[in-house]
Amino acid sequence: MGFDTRGDKLWMNGKIIDWTDANVHVLTHGLHYGSSVFEGTRAYGGKMFKLSEHNERLLKSAKILGFEIPYSLDELNAACEEAVEAEGHPTCYVRPIAWCGSNKMAVDRDGIDVHVAVATWDMGNYFADKMRGLKLCIADWRRPDPVTAPHDAKAAGLYMICSMSKSAAQAKGCDDALMLDWRGQVAEGTGANIFFIRDGAIHTPTPDCFLDGITRRTVIGLARDKGLEVIERAIMPEELPTFSEVFFTGTAAEVTPVRQIEDIQYQVGQITHGLAEDYDRLVNGK
Ligand code: PMP
Repeated sequence: MGFDTRGDKLWMNGKIIDWTDANVHVLTHGLHYGSSVFEGTRAYGGKMFKLSEHNERLLKSAKILGFEIPYSLDELNAACEEAVEAEGHPTCYVRPIAWCGSNKMAVDRDGIDVHVAVATWDMGNYFADKMRGLKLCIADWRRPDPVTAPHDAKAAGLYMICSMSKSAAQAKGCDDALMLDWRGQVAEGTGANIFFIRDGAIHTPTPDCFLDGITRRTVIGLARDKGLEVIERAIMPEELPTFSEVFFTGTAAEVTPVRQIEDIQYQVGQITHGLAEDYDRLVNGK
């Protein structure tokens, strides 16, 4: 079933409406010029994990792109609650999105209407067979220099690079792509941050040109709580064979082990398992 028909109710521009009425015109600024920002959070048993952090990032992303969302943080949080309630799946993925509308069709956005919607759907694991570990290949496309693209905005336009890279990886029989940045340093997955383990310490790239994920920061906290050392630094692809475990973090991915990058194999090891369990306990309020 397509995403345009699979649900019953969602929140759009201030109220709950029928899912199939949540349409935009083909002449919509967000569609043509990428003036759209979004979020993804998950509800676990009716409670959304770090909801305010996600909606703060939504507001910040719009501000970075230069448009104002016409709702406050509290109103966005309430909209997400209403959307989960209306659709009736207490455990689901929650997608708030804000975009520039169709009252103007020009590259600039002066005087443009900003719309907001929140849709929810059942997601389950983002990667099938998650704990088996993912097979990655290195993407041809790279994360851009921060002077070229607003890397700390969760902007729809930035996902063009991710979509091209993920589809190319899947065409090669991989689950996802590992993206390097414009300098050739290891950056992230197409929808998740990446961590590496060597000699019991955790290494992760400094998020200076890609999203500093809410899950990333959560897992760094969980790791430090366990007494694990976490080092944020530049990681070059030449180092990839020196690590023993690798995992992704993200709202959708949660903690997902990686078992292979190109020809290099990794264990789905104890540290990854431990952090996946800790994360699971935390999001489920246990
Ligand atoms: N990087 C990219 C490109 C993403 O799409 C995501 C998912 N939002 C992340 C990292 C992880 O972010 P978060 O943990 O906040 O979901």
